[in-house]
Amino acid sequence: MGVFACVYCNCLEKGLLASQPKSEWNVFVDSDGSRSTEGLDLEAELEFDQWNESACEHESGIYLRRPIGNVSLVGMLREQLSANGTGKTFPILVGHVLYNGTHGGDSVPMELMPQLREEVSQLSTVHCEEPGTAAFLRGFEQTMQALCANAEALDRSICF
Ligand SMILES: [Zn+2]
Repeated sequence: MGVFACVYCNCLEKGLLASQPKSEWNVFVDSDGSRSTEGLDLEAELEFDQWNESACEHESGIYLRRPIGNVSLVGMLREQLSANGTGKTFPILVGHVLYNGTHGGDSVPMELMPQLREEVSQLSTVHCEEPGTAAFLRGFEQTMQALCANAEALDRSICF
């Protein structure tokens, strides 16, 4: 368990699918950036899932997937960013990424992505004494930079 973050690909909009969906599925891009459909019966839903898994070169349309950390690491990062001594706050990182150690199926709303990128660029100002903690914080910074860069390039949100 723990938190994993991902960014979905944009192969559907870019016309880069290796196989086309059935038109009656009415496939669309969901708010988290994933390929989705709605109102299908169970059989069609399963068929859609199977198609979606290998519809493009990215398994299930996932462009990038990175671990954020297990429950205790996420808690430690949350603590570091909440009381970091710099006077800076990280409401999106704390409230949408690190708010608990096991969340999944949610995403950072698109309209908050610019603010998230700004917070990620401020992470380098947060330092901590303990070397182990510092290393985890730098790792988290790199992970978030990679996720943000890809999300921006693909015009996608970051989801969990
Ligand atoms: Zn793709």
